[in-house]
Amino acid sequence: MTVIERLQTTLGGLGLTAVEARLENLLEGASKAAPSYAEFLLDVIGAEADARRARYLKTRLQLAHLPYVKTFAQFDLSFQPSIDERQIRELQTLRFVHEASNVILLGPPGVGKTHLAVALAEAAIQAGQAAYFMTAHDLVSDLGNAYREGRLDRRMRVYLAPKVLVIDEMGYLPLDDLGATIFFQLVSARYERGSIILTSNKSYGDWGSIFGDPIIATAILDRLLHHSTTINIRGESYRLKDRRRAGLLNRPEDQQPAATALAAASADPRRGKERK
Ligand code: ADP
Ligand code: MG
Repeated sequence: MTVIERLQTTLGGLGLTAVEARLENLLEGASKAAPSYAEFLLDVIGAEADARRARYLKTRLQLAHLPYVKTFAQFDLSFQPSIDERQIRELQTLRFVHEASNVILLGPPGVGKTHLAVALAEAAIQAGQAAYFMTAHDLVSDLGNAYREGRLDRRMRVYLAPKVLVIDEMGYLPLDDLGATIFFQLVSARYERGSIILTSNKSYGDWGSIFGDPIIATAILDRLLHHSTTINIRGESYRLKDRRRAGLLNRPEDQQPAATALAAASADPRRGKERK
């Protein structure tokens, strides 16, 4: 057995798969650059450490149950002037995670609430924190089932353990009494312990109608908002942007009936390309 073969066997045996895979490159690089012993050792061990970190992040991302992975870099802030850029920069520092403070993203459909919630969760994961994503509806029905089967406390831990819990689409469907009580329990248990990132199409004034009871809505909002940042997005849907560009929809200020725009767009397909 040559030294290289013995090295490969030993690395394989120790499970140092990244070094094993890059062995030739590492040796070739070293013979060219002639690093010090310490530098070479750092290159070798660094290769394994990098690969482990990448694997660990991948697992964390999978465990987070995100609907998609999108980042801040993919978010076009200029499309949403109602968003205060400084607020976003501040959130990106992830101080809110360390302070167990909450982030509430409000606005109509398509304005990027879920995108920003996912980007925050992704950033937290990159920084080594655990995150978990769930729609409000799935979360409440999961905990409702657990309650009926007498294992609410155990199931609740899934939603209490991660430092960041994203609750998406709060308020699309109203909650029944059990749902509202469970939601209150969850918010109380996470209060000052772990961050909640919540998205909703309902403004705070309409929360009574989500919970069916203004008293419980107030109690929930009280805890949720005590340490929190609210981002109120008032712009238009990003999903409609491309359709607008194609001339299939017109802006409200165009004052042109939609039917006319539609007819014009179908009559001249080039027209759409010129519209911004
Ligand atoms: P909401 O949750 O507010 O209904 P989403 O976050 O799901 O909206 O956004 C709808 C789609 O548009 C997603 O694919 C999202 O990535 C994209 N999107 C929304 N706003 C922006 C933006 N400002 N820049 C880039 N992509 C955006
Ligand atoms: Mg959404």
